[in-house]
Amino acid sequence: MNILDELNQVSILQVAEDLGLEVQRHRMKCPFHEEDTPSLVLYPHTNSFYCFGCAKTGNSITLYSEIKHLDIKTTINEMASEYVTGFQKYTANPKKPLPKMNVLNVPEIRNIQAKEKPTAEIHSQIYEAFRDFCLQQKSNELSQTALDYLKHRGFTEKTIKDFRLFAIKDYTEVTWYLKQRFSYLDLQESGLYNVKNNLIFYSHSLIIPYYRAGRIVYLQGRVIGKPAEGTNRYCFLNNQPLTLFNADSLLKVRMGETVYVTEGAFDCIRLVQEGKVAVSLGTANIFKKEWAKLFKRVNVVFYLDNDKAGHKAADELEKIFSHFNISCSRKNLPDEYKDVNDYYTGKLGSNEQLGLF
Ligand SMILES: [Zn+2]
Repeated sequence: MNILDELNQVSILQVAEDLGLEVQRHRMKCPFHEEDTPSLVLYPHTNSFYCFGCAKTGNSITLYSEIKHLDIKTTINEMASEYVTGFQKYTANPKKPLPKMNVLNVPEIRNIQAKEKPTAEIHSQIYEAFRDFCLQQKSNELSQTALDYLKHRGFTEKTIKDFRLFAIKDYTEVTWYLKQRFSYLDLQESGLYNVKNNLIFYSHSLIIPYYRAGRIVYLQGRVIGKPAEGTNRYCFLNNQPLTLFNADSLLKVRMGETVYVTEGAFDCIRLVQEGKVAVSLGTANIFKKEWAKLFKRVNVVFYLDNDKAGHKAADELEKIFSHFNISCSRKNLPDEYKDVNDYYTGKLGSNEQLGLF
């Protein structure tokens, strides 16, 4: 068990008492807003708290750090010396055990992937708790809109399920749930919450999970339909390295098989739906050279957006891949289509109502 797990188990009642807070029947006056009657409730079974007056929420660690105005490192050191027996001073970078990656059976790929910093286990846990909570909530207007939108873009229910795309149905509820389960620090470090402890996917309620060896290692949010003025279509995690979308499919390809490389995750998903093998870069302007080696055994076809950025990226990628002696070529979209998914949707004649979104 790491020190944070241990501290999360320290009784919040004990911490409140030690901080000199006046608690009666698990309730106290909120130190975070002015009030006369106590509306902050301590939950001993989860060691968390919630204020019904100002909606402040947290766990034993956050309560301690907020009341004493300490940064997180100092908090951990202080709390550990106080509550954890045999504690040795916390070092800045505890060596977390690497998550188990057991699907990687191609020796070359295993070597390369080992170089890429694995997503912290706790981050995967957060992303998966986020997905599972959203998926188990009853569908509502928002999730129905998301589903309709996906179908309009030509995706089948099977595809949506296979890629485990999901929508945020209720921001308050999912945030409440995650804050009960995880510390603010972990939520922030996972990139899913910003420094103000708000979920970053505020306007981006359609979520695209990135998997590696079956675990979620990255999340991308998308606006449902057309973004409002000044809002980007996509939202990426804060401070988390972008990784290839659908990279696990590279483990199953046969020597010499064609693998398409697209910009957007939707383009990749669409090609898979059409029976092809595809991965996506997430965006045209990021490609990590170490990824190139993942494609060593295959025939790569770049199938990028039909715009300036896409063409430029394809030029660059061809250079990188040639440098690694990987066979690659480029497929261009007909002029009238902007990206792969539009092309397939157009071809199927299901785009009459695209203007709706
Ligand atoms: Zn309050």
